[in-house]
Amino acid sequence: MWGMSRESSCRRCRVYCDWVVDPLGCLGCSRLYAYDAKDGGRYVGCVEGVHLAELELQVLESCVEEGRTFGGIRAARVPLPICAARVDSAYPQRLPEIGCVNPEFHEPPGGGTFTIGVRGSATPPDDA
Ligand code: SF4
Ligand code: SF4
Repeated sequence: MWGMSRESSCRRCRVYCDWVVDPLGCLGCSRLYAYDAKDGGRYVGCVEGVHLAELELQVLESCVEEGRTFGGIRAARVPLPICAARVDSAYPQRLPEIGCVNPEFHEPPGGGTFTIGVRGSATPPDDA
C-alpha cells in the first residue's frame, strides 16, 4: 500500500522535520469517524490513523465558521493524498551546508511533483 514504507518524521539532520495534518481538512473526509461521548460532545478521529487525536467536532466547526485556523497535528504515519498535510521543520536555521540529505521526505503524498533546490550559484562554462 502506498506510503507504508515512508517515514512521517525525519531526524537525519538537526532540522527535525515532521509531517503534520490540518484537522480542519478532515471535515467531510470519508475516513473520519465520530462518536458521542458521555460529556455530550461529539468527537472525531481518523480511521486511517494518519493522526491519533480525537477532537471535539464543535471546536473544528467553530474554527471553520469563524475563519480561524486550528493548527497542525503531528502525523503518526505519512498522510494520504486526500489529507491537508505539510512538512513542519522545527529548526530550519540548522540546515547543514550540504542541504537536506533526505529530499524524498518532502515529496507530497501521492507522489506529486517536487523539486530539489541547488544551493549557491553554478559556474558558467568556459565557452560561454
Ligand atoms: S484520511 Fe486524512 S483527511 Fe481523512 S480523516 Fe484521516 S487525516 Fe483527516
Ligand atoms: S532537512 Fe531533510 S534531512 Fe534534515 S530533518 Fe528535514 S527532511 Fe530530514
